[in-house]
This record gives sequence, structure tokens and C-alpha cells, in this order.
Amino acid sequence: MDELYDVIIIGGGAAATSAAMTLKNRGKSVLAVSNRSESSNLYKAEKITNYPGLPPMSGAELTALFRRQLEESGAVLVEGRALSVLPMEDSFGVAVGSDYYTARSILLCAGITREKLYPGEAEFLGRGVSYCATCDGMLYRGKTVAVVGGGEEAVHDADFLESIGCTVLRFPQSARFEILGSGKAETLRVGGIDHAVDCVFIIKDTVSVTRLVPGLRYENGGILVDRRMATDVPGVFAAGDCTGKPLQLAKAVGEGNVAALSACDWLDGKN
Ligand SMILES: Cc1cc2nc3c(=O)[nH]c(=O)nc-3n(C[C@H](O)[C@H](O)[C@H](O)COP(=O)(O)OP(=O)(O)OC[C@H]3O[C@@H](n4cnc5c(N)ncnc54)[C@H](O)[C@@H]3O)c2cc1C
Repeated sequence: MDELYDVIIIGGGAAATSAAMTLKNRGKSVLAVSNRSESSNLYKAEKITNYPGLPPMSGAELTALFRRQLEESGAVLVEGRALSVLPMEDSFGVAVGSDYYTARSILLCAGITREKLYPGEAEFLGRGVSYCATCDGMLYRGKTVAVVGGGEEAVHDADFLESIGCTVLRFPQSARFEILGSGKAETLRVGGIDHAVDCVFIIKDTVSVTRLVPGLRYENGGILVDRRMATDVPGVFAAGDCTGKPLQLAKAVGEGNVAALSACDWLDGKN
């Protein structure tokens, strides 16, 4: 049977790194699921001058330091995009592409995910709209599909779909899209031009936390947490930008530490 981790951390930035280090120091088994580090907000920062203990450096440099610490923390690092978190009786399942991992608790460190959905995307999700070619590609073997998105993953997914006999239409994410159909997705409208498709694969770096975990509550644009960084879902903790303002590194690191300690208490039956 696959390993049941104590904690799955979703994210790989400042909050996640801080949480992973604390959890490993407390002897917990940890899996961290994160997109490539270049996708973090911090990576885009020109110069960080307000992080204690370190000289000014670029966001890219600090991102690399965090990623190295995350790798060296002892947490198992899986590079990929967590698609959904499924609460089960005493544990949680996390889908990452076509892989599936389980843990007794979840720590959300996903940063800010400003996700604008295309018209029809939510309506047809699972009925001709998919976020994962590896998971759902076979359902559309030999059919006409669209891949929406740039980047390596979109290229890889388009190649895979072609290899199983699909006719693949590829579009960059920047175009204007609308997904139309009756009961299931049938047409992808791109800048006013209609394309008949059996499925639209939308490949993006992040999934909004609002859709990642069912049952969370939100306040002022962030996940609602208490002082222990516990969310409304027992066993799910959150830290960093995803809990709201201020959007600052020091806050993310501090919250990651608190969330990790709270997760330890929860795992040890102390609250
Ligand atoms: C241009 C810019 C300049 C900034 N300058 C400063 C500054 O000078 N000082 C300062 O204190 N702060 C600054 N910030 C803010 C700082 O970068 C953030 O507060 C900090 O990075 C938050 O850390 P985090 O771990 O919460 O999120 P992030 O650093 O955003 O990390 C989250 C990670 O999780 C990944 N992720 C999200 N969803 C998923 C998923 N479903 N599956 C897998 N991985 C996922 C993301 O790709 C990302 O790698 C700046 C931000 C920007 C954009």
C-alpha cells in the first residue's frame, strides 16, 4: 500500500519551506507538492530588502535558497500541480496529475492564485473540460481535442494526446476563450471563431484554493484561519499569502512555522 504521510504540503515557496523544516524537526513524514519554483510570486520580485538575516537579493536568488532548503529538509518533494484535495474518513487524498497521495493532514501554502475561469470552464469540468491529459486523455482517444496553455507541460500534453491518435488544436492561454455545448463541451470559441472539439484540456500552473479543497471559508480574499492557522476543515491548515494580507515573506515564514506546529499537535491528538 502507498505511504500515508503525516502531512502533505501544497506549495513550495516561503511558507511551505518554513513549514516543512519545522515538521521534519518534529519527526513528521512530509510530502510537499509544488510547481516549479519559477512559478512563485517571490521569483518575480526584483529585490528583497526586508527579510531579516539576509542581505538584499533578487526574488529569483531567494527562491533558489528556499527551494534548496525545502529539498534538504527531508520532505519528499513532488514537482507538479495539486489538482484536488479529497477529504476521507481519517485522511486526505491529493491528486497530482494522474498520481495520488494520501496524508493525515494538509497544509495549504499555495500563495495567491488569481484564477480567472473561462466562460463554460466550471460548467463543463469533467464533461469535456479537463486539467490533466495524462488522467483523462484516453477518454478522448482518436478524437479532436484542444490544449489551452503555453509552457512545457502543455507541449508535453499535446504530444501525448497526438501519440494516442487525437487531433490536437493548440492555443496560447492569452487568447479569449469560451466553451460552449449542451450537456458537455462541444465547441471552443477562440476570439470569435468556433472549433468543434470533444474535450478542452486547460493546462495552468495553479488551481485556485477555492476549488482545491471543499468546505473552506474565506474572508477578505484569504482562507479563513484561526490563530493556530487552522481552517474550518479539521486537519487542514493554511499559511502564507493564501490566508490573505499582508502579502509579505516574513508573514509567510512565520505562519508556515505556526501551521506546522499546530499540525503536529493535531496529529498527536492534542487539539
Ligand atoms: C513582484 C513582487 C515583489 C515582492 N516583493 C516583496 C518584498 O520585497 N518583500 C516581501 O516581504 N514580500 C514581497 N513580495 C511578496 C512575497 O513574494 C510573498 O508574500 C511570498 O512569496 C509568499 O510566500 P508563499 O509561500 O505564501 O507563496 P508563494 O511564494 O507564492 O509560493 C506558493 C507556491 O505554491 C505553488 N502552488 C500554488 N498552487 C499550487 C498547486 N495547486 N499545486 C502545486 N503547487 C502550487 C506556486 O506555484 C508557488 O510556487 C513580493 C511579491 C511580488 C509578486
